Amino acid sequence: MQCTTRSFPELISSFLKGKIAELEGSCGPESRQYKSIARQFFYNPAEKESERSHWRLRHYDADMKTGEDTEALLGVERLYRRTMLLELTTFCFSHCRWCLRSNYQRFTLRKEQIVNNIALAGSREARDTVREILITGGDPLINTQILDFALDEIARSAPNIEIIRIGTRAFSHHPKQVDNELVQMFAKHQRNFRLEIGTQINSPVEFWPESVDAMHRIQDLGITIYTQNVLLKGVNDDLETLVELYDECRRHAIEAHYLFHCVPMRGMEHHRTSVAKGLALISRLTAGGYISGRSKPTFTVMTDIGKITLYEGSILQRREKTQEAQLQSSYSLKERQAYNPGFQLPDSAEVDEQGYLTVWYPDGKDDNFWGD
Ligand code: SF4
Repeated sequence: MQCTTRSFPELISSFLKGKIAELEGSCGPESRQYKSIARQFFYNPAEKESERSHWRLRHYDADMKTGEDTEALLGVERLYRRTMLLELTTFCFSHCRWCLRSNYQRFTLRKEQIVNNIALAGSREARDTVREILITGGDPLINTQILDFALDEIARSAPNIEIIRIGTRAFSHHPKQVDNELVQMFAKHQRNFRLEIGTQINSPVEFWPESVDAMHRIQDLGITIYTQNVLLKGVNDDLETLVELYDECRRHAIEAHYLFHCVPMRGMEHHRTSVAKGLALISRLTAGGYISGRSKPTFTVMTDIGKITLYEGSILQRREKTQEAQLQSSYSLKERQAYNPGFQLPDSAEVDEQGYLTVWYPDGKDDNFWGD
């Protein structure tokens, strides 16, 4: 997939604009509540600064190719053994400022491209290993007709797929999208697969009544909603906010999945804490009795070779000059290339003596950028 530095225009849905205005009026522009939403969506001139040129334009390269083709297929990736990623569109209801997708080529797949991509998931090479498809984006709920078509096509040509996950921020960006038509569509496809909805909730403020109502409409179908939250400087990088956030998730039966360290994207340093701060917070959050054991996330970083959940010993060494940490993974290059022959080892990665990959990951820093 083509990947270049692009301007990522500020895009804030009318729903979010209304909520930001409400928070400004009721809590004030200096309130934690207002800032926790505004900082996620308002453009900041710091984005133009590119302090460290080795920062990424995308988080990994796992594009798929077919047969003799040297051109990567648009909208399909295979980074993990069991799961294939399908991107139907790169458009969203609102632009989350730190999102790496801002650097990706903009597209919505045509029907024949969807058919070709899904044929890969059901192919002889993939059908014994691939069990899940993660439909990500962009926001797949932005075009429900395309989503419906893709789900029908998966049922038709990839019977090995048992579980489909759909990633969306519609609950906090545009909850009206969860209308009767969408609910009926999900009810129809549930007969063929287990559907799960992955979302991202970064502030406890995002549990607006309209958002909660939309979540409940999905949950009433028996569909699980889980959340992958992003640790963001000046938004949720304190214990009190995280406790409130995960308590709200628990209250509304939203399963906690990852707490992501903010991706090392060029121009987004003002959103990224250090990894050490994330580790200190996750340790207090999950080993201090602050939240239910059923709502504990795992602290995870997205590297050039895929997600790595951090444990003791995951950080092998540091390069202070470039503020990078070398991380140990249990990904095997041999295995990765067996299921994705087009995968190439990025410059940041090496193979260790056991055949597992290690990778250099740019750290963030704990300045007081937002002046709180
Ligand atoms: S909704 Fe998802 S894909 Fe779209 S900008 Fe936000 S994080 Fe990125």
